[in-house]
Amino acid sequence: MSEMISEIIYLDNNATTRCAPEVIDAMLPFLGEEYGNASSPHLMGRRASVAVARARDHIAESLNCDAAEVCFTGGATEANNLVLLGLTRCEGKRRKVVTSVVEHKSVLEPLEWLSENGFTVVRLPVSRDGVVDLSAAQEAIDDETLLVSIQAANNEIGTLQPLREIAKIAHERGAAVHCDAAQLLGKLPVSLDDLGADFASFSTHKAYGPKGIGFLVARRSGAARALTPVFFGGGQERGLRPGTLNVPGIVGTGEACRLCCERVRSDADRISALRETLERSLLDRVAHVAFVGASSDRLPGTSNVLFSGIPGDLLISRVPSVCLSIGSACSSGTIAPSHVMLAMGFSRDEARSAVRVSIGRYNTAEDIVHAVDLIADAVCEIVSDLPRSS
Ligand code: PMP
Repeated sequence: MSEMISEIIYLDNNATTRCAPEVIDAMLPFLGEEYGNASSPHLMGRRASVAVARARDHIAESLNCDAAEVCFTGGATEANNLVLLGLTRCEGKRRKVVTSVVEHKSVLEPLEWLSENGFTVVRLPVSRDGVVDLSAAQEAIDDETLLVSIQAANNEIGTLQPLREIAKIAHERGAAVHCDAAQLLGKLPVSLDDLGADFASFSTHKAYGPKGIGFLVARRSGAARALTPVFFGGGQERGLRPGTLNVPGIVGTGEACRLCCERVRSDADRISALRETLERSLLDRVAHVAFVGASSDRLPGTSNVLFSGIPGDLLISRVPSVCLSIGSACSSGTIAPSHVMLAMGFSRDEARSAVRVSIGRYNTAEDIVHAVDLIADAVCEIVSDLPRSS
């Protein structure tokens, strides 16, 4: 299967992924005849709750954690908010949260709110490759620190963070650790034991499953026991996330995790070879091209390409059949330069000329060859237009 859907080449797999056919098959009965509420005591309800329990087991086996540690949410945004707000609601001596400047907005914005409501929030700086500064972490994390929240992998650059080292520093000082692992699942093997975090957030649609469903893993450590809900009105998910369970989404999540676990190593090898081809071909075909974060450990399929002097939104508009991504769009609909690239020390102009290519399970070598051809031609056209437009 290729990602060429009627001439469209999908290279935006960090934004979302195609639902795997196996996942769709697993979900279908629960979108049809198996519509019971998993909390109902009757036969239909029990069948739904058995399916939920099976999905929880698949997740636990795939991620090396306990089924009872999995709390289903509406995605990683909700899981991130649940940890950050649910852990800080309790009165306590520790009133400091440490994070990084390159986190997703679903971490930075709740922390912004906390900083306006009595918490000290420290945002750790990163290197030019986007890696969190460990000496700054050593300095910032102290016995006032309640929580350290660091992502596993960056959605724009793909940079992998030294999470185990950070978790060690945090635990030595009695702080809990949360990891936004939304970009890890399906891209690299995930083991909760290896991650070293007390909490980890995931979104199923980033891992070849459906949208609007994800989960928080709250390890059975002391820190996880201190987590309180932020929504009220039902006992589901041990009261941590009340609301009728999304049975089809949960079943899809279980199958997506099972498949990811089975395929992730071979997917990662193949995808990283496709990225090498992409970067080598772009270097051959396009002048003044550079790859952001390329000297750090990165997700295998992420390439953040700087097309010097060419606005990313202009380039993307010239290759309408290739799905690519640029810095986050702000609420007014205009393009804001990425806060991640600015934090890494790039100028606003450089940040505006970055284009993210994210390769996934269903991309083929043919997709990459076609995309490079189209991008290289578009860059030539834009460059030849420049003197006239300036
Ligand atoms: N964290 C990271 C690192 C992400 O990339 C995303 C999705 N872009 C999220 C959190 C939020 O995930 P969702 O929108 O599925 O809730």
